[in-house]
Amino acid sequence: MTVVSKTIKLNTKGDTDIINITDQVAAALSKSGLIDGVVTVFVSGSTGALTTVEYEPGLVQDLKAFFEKIAPKTGSYEHNTRWHDGNGYAHVRSSLLGPSVSAPFAKGLLMLGTWQQIIFIDFDNRPRSRELIVQIMGE
Ligand code: ZN
Repeated sequence: MTVVSKTIKLNTKGDTDIINITDQVAAALSKSGLIDGVVTVFVSGSTGALTTVEYEPGLVQDLKAFFEKIAPKTGSYEHNTRWHDGNGYAHVRSSLLGPSVSAPFAKGLLMLGTWQQIIFIDFDNRPRSRELIVQIMGE
């Protein structure tokens, strides 16, 4: 088994910016030269998250509305009281989704569904420069 690590650099708008990174993950996989295995994408940071979705404008809006419902931006957060950075909602939202997503690959191709894209969500309350870690394990 071989492990190959790559990065994906993103400049986000923050404020629940939902970004389709499927092409960048596929490109990292292609450069690794590995044929069969699993790829994990990870964000080191507590206001970003990763998952998959059918990436189309309707669902992007639905996701934003969903997160606003379960962790409202203007809600009351102890984190904001303690740190005054105003992004308590962003931490709560990202903890719910988690900091990584994994997908298997075979014959050098990600085994995603046709209507399934890998997304990074930046929940923070300001634009950020992010460097996602792509770790590819396989042979
Ligand atoms: Zn914070």
